[in-house]
Amino acid sequence: MKKKISRNDSSKLRAVPGDLRRHNRGLVLEYLFRASTVSRTALAQATGLTPAAVSRITRELVEAGLVRELAREGAPAARGRPQVDLELCAEGAYVIGIGVGAFEQWVRIADLRGECVSRRPVQLLDQSSARSALKVLVGEIRALLTLAKIPRKRVLGAGIASAGVVDRQKGLIIESPNLGWHDLPVARLVSDALRLPVCVESMHHALNLAEEGFGKNAGKASGAGDTVLVNASMGIGASVMEQGRIVRGRHSAAGQIGHMSVAGATGLCTCGRKGCLDTVASGYGVLRRLGLVPPRKVAREHDAAAARKLLSAIERERQGEPRVRRAFHASGAELGNALNAVRAILDPQRIVLAGPLAGTLSYVKGVQARLDERKAGEPREAAAPLLVLGTHTPDSAGACLALTEFAFGGTLELADLVR
Ligand SMILES: [Zn+2]
Repeated sequence: MKKKISRNDSSKLRAVPGDLRRHNRGLVLEYLFRASTVSRTALAQATGLTPAAVSRITRELVEAGLVRELAREGAPAARGRPQVDLELCAEGAYVIGIGVGAFEQWVRIADLRGECVSRRPVQLLDQSSARSALKVLVGEIRALLTLAKIPRKRVLGAGIASAGVVDRQKGLIIESPNLGWHDLPVARLVSDALRLPVCVESMHHALNLAEEGFGKNAGKASGAGDTVLVNASMGIGASVMEQGRIVRGRHSAAGQIGHMSVAGATGLCTCGRKGCLDTVASGYGVLRRLGLVPPRKVAREHDAAAARKLLSAIERERQGEPRVRRAFHASGAELGNALNAVRAILDPQRIVLAGPLAGTLSYVKGVQARLDERKAGEPREAAAPLLVLGTHTPDSAGACLALTEFAFGGTLELADLVR
């Protein structure tokens, strides 16, 4: 656990009791999420809270149905009290995860343990406007909640992982060219419609945060928190994490490596310039190599038809078509070259390759081949950063975002759950 508060913080309890109480509740829930089962004593040691505070918080959580007590078999009673462990009740609360990109759109419900209860794809791109697209999205979420028979009061909130540049603080999609959404207060609009708290994050940052904190990749390359995540889809986006913090840049637009220029590349990019990495290393780059899309004459965004073509090319790669495999490998190698430049600047501990292209072996091999080439100026003993494959989809990253914000983030009101 990175977050700790000292016992001396009881002074803050007097100053802002509600805030501190919610903050400590979030700490306990997050620790229980990560530790599976734990005793109250161990919980107090791990969080730095007093045993009395842990007792009070866990009693409230048990009463609210978020935590249960497990009798420890054969354990002797200490000071007359039975030894019990605590664990989260998965069905005690739920969050909604939303993934919205050019490639695909999904919504899911996850339980308090982060496990998927139900998910479904959403067709958004043929919608005429952002607001009508959001209506479709909200309708799908309502249907999902009804089908799963989940009481609304048990839903803590929703997290949206969206393609494009996002201002997380303001809940705003600043610009998402592939979706055609600009200056869209998406968190407020979805929140008003669902009557739930909603937060939004750029898809590549949401994926990076999810890989760092949740699931199989969490804690890999330990001590890490120095990660570059690349979301390789129709376009390429990256997210840089340094010591566990996302690097956002002055305009929330850090990580746009898809628009780094590549020597010798001449194709027109979505951004209007020629020779960007996106034109040779992305899903669009693969489709261009295979002749499945014509060369761009004007700078236009990816469309749903191109995304469907990419899905079919991915399927052909998996079936082993040599020509298709070569196209994926060559595109992966272009990304590997660009990542070597990123590596020279940031020297990350690991690189996470996410997105649909990461699901094709030829592409991953292309990336790895270039990362394995020794770079001039690099110490002899320097190994390539660990290349790991992403384990989250955008909607699962959205659910992780919602858990972080609404279960562990110090905003949870227990009265809302039982009302
Ligand atoms: Zn570009």
